[in-house]
Amino acid sequence: MNALIDKIISQEEKYSVFLQRLELIFNKMDNKYNELCEYYGFYCTGCEDNCCFTRFYHHTFAEYLYMKKGLDTLAPANRKEIAQKALSICRQTSELEKSGLPVHLPCPLNYDGMCVLYAYRPMICRLHGIPHELALPGRERKINPGCDEFNAKCGSKKYMKFDRTHLYAELAGLESSMKKELNISERIKMTIAQMISSL
Ligand code: SF4
Repeated sequence: MNALIDKIISQEEKYSVFLQRLELIFNKMDNKYNELCEYYGFYCTGCEDNCCFTRFYHHTFAEYLYMKKGLDTLAPANRKEIAQKALSICRQTSELEKSGLPVHLPCPLNYDGMCVLYAYRPMICRLHGIPHELALPGRERKINPGCDEFNAKCGSKKYMKFDRTHLYAELAGLESSMKKELNISERIKMTIAQMISSL
């Protein structure tokens, strides 16, 4: 993976335009999410089952490179501390997995409940928590519930349509064009801790 990462990162002049397009997609996601939060009256102030403790996997190099862009804005000392946290989380995760125990560890970017790279967070961090629907190719359209906190606070409100399908498709289209431009065919599946540890 390291050689692949080096190959990708060395092509910044090619991928930077895709990150600008990614920002537009993220803006669209944020606007829709905020609109829905207003409708439901849902404002996340943290909870016991914080989603930043959920081991989400991210599946695009575009989000990986955007996260790197965010890391590059940090002071070297902060970045070093985050890298150490990420490495420690990866080690603890692997030990817990070996022992067959559940993994409930925080994202290394979470400090006192706040994301230190909020503007650079990946898609799932932007969309989590609100009921939504998806119509993936070859599968039936499915409506998924909000998070526990949402259900406790706003679960009785009538569902407002939130179709994530076109947002996923836009991100997938961007990823595909960027991979073509960078001449890579590999796939990515990484947690934030793994992404940071790999840089
Ligand atoms: S990237 Fe930010 S919002 Fe996403 S899990 Fe990590 S701390 Fe939470």
